[in-house]
Amino acid sequence: MNKSKIWLSSPHMGGSEQKYVQEAFDTNWVAPLGPNVTGMEQDLEQYLANGSAVGALSSGTAAIHLGLVLLGVQAGDTVLCQSMTFSASANPILYQGATPVFIDSELDTWNLCPVALEKAIISEIVKGIKPKAIIAVHLYGVPYQIEAVRAVADAYSIPILEDSAEALGSSYKGEKCGTFGDIGVLSFNGNKIITTSGGGAIVTPTTALKEKAIFFATQSRDVAPHYQHSEIGYNYRMSNICAGIGRGQMEVLDDHVANRRAMHDFYVAIFNDIPGVTVFTVPNADYYANYWLSAILVDPEKTNGMTRETMRLALEAENIESRPLWKPMHLQPIFEKYPYYGTTVSETLFENGLCLPSGSNLTDDDRNRIKSVLLHLFGKKA
Ligand SMILES: *Cc1c(COP(=O)(O)O)cnc(C)c1O
Repeated sequence: MNKSKIWLSSPHMGGSEQKYVQEAFDTNWVAPLGPNVTGMEQDLEQYLANGSAVGALSSGTAAIHLGLVLLGVQAGDTVLCQSMTFSASANPILYQGATPVFIDSELDTWNLCPVALEKAIISEIVKGIKPKAIIAVHLYGVPYQIEAVRAVADAYSIPILEDSAEALGSSYKGEKCGTFGDIGVLSFNGNKIITTSGGGAIVTPTTALKEKAIFFATQSRDVAPHYQHSEIGYNYRMSNICAGIGRGQMEVLDDHVANRRAMHDFYVAIFNDIPGVTVFTVPNADYYANYWLSAILVDPEKTNGMTRETMRLALEAENIESRPLWKPMHLQPIFEKYPYYGTTVSETLFENGLCLPSGSNLTDDDRNRIKSVLLHLFGKKA
């Protein structure tokens, strides 16, 4: 049996990445600007297809940070944030010296619960605090409740920072994720649906706002022949080398989405007749997920005591990587002192959820190994 490591999500090159990187070397654009950066931005703008402007940055985290800066978040402000997410959604709130307030998930999309969100807003307003922004996340590529979250945000005139780091290629009612927030965020980290090795982008409704983001991302240089600064600057621009990888990856983005969705179908077929295990799936046909990661929920009361941890260890013994869902931020040592609104939805998801190998580059042999472990666990023939 082949025991090479099967990863949760690993980089998957398309083939033309090195051509764009070579061009950068040939033309000496080895800098955080150049034709690949501009090209990557244009490719993304075309892909998002709703007139949004895109600024390429060094990471998704940098994009979230600049998003908060653009929304005017300052020291002492309050920012509402989905609790169940990767820490990169929340850390930039602290970079700004602002206070995070964490919100529970709902069970349909595992994302921001609109009811808990509104409760949080009302409670904070009663305390005399008007929250400055809402950070909403499309977990594992499943869109959050776009309309319900927008309705709450609009009712209180609070802008949405849409963390679409996991959802490039997902859409809701035919509109691409990344374009629903007042500002959107994409990530091209090594484990994401496409990668630039490390990188990200900010999505803005206007070119003027994109230019403001790039101004901040390139040290906030005022117009002058010397170096003159009136605002805090950052070094957050994407390298033209990384953008070369990104241009190659944009050519295969649709293939990656199709392969990841096929992995989701693969798990649906395996767990179809296994009681107590459900594969995380969009609630209805308005939602289209890239299924960046395929995730399952395990209910030990219906699986004869089988837990996600038993499954994780059995996969690990066969050199197959799987991982619990994101541990909610309100349970993290660094964030537990901040307010939290909701019940135990995100906590329960964390306790019972598991992400399974989902890469767009998995082979039939990999799938056979995964399937054999999973079926064996439940006493079924592979
Ligand atoms: C990956 C990720 C980020 C951060 O992106 P980087 O490019 O790694 O900085 C932010 N939010 C979520 C939900 C992510 O999964």
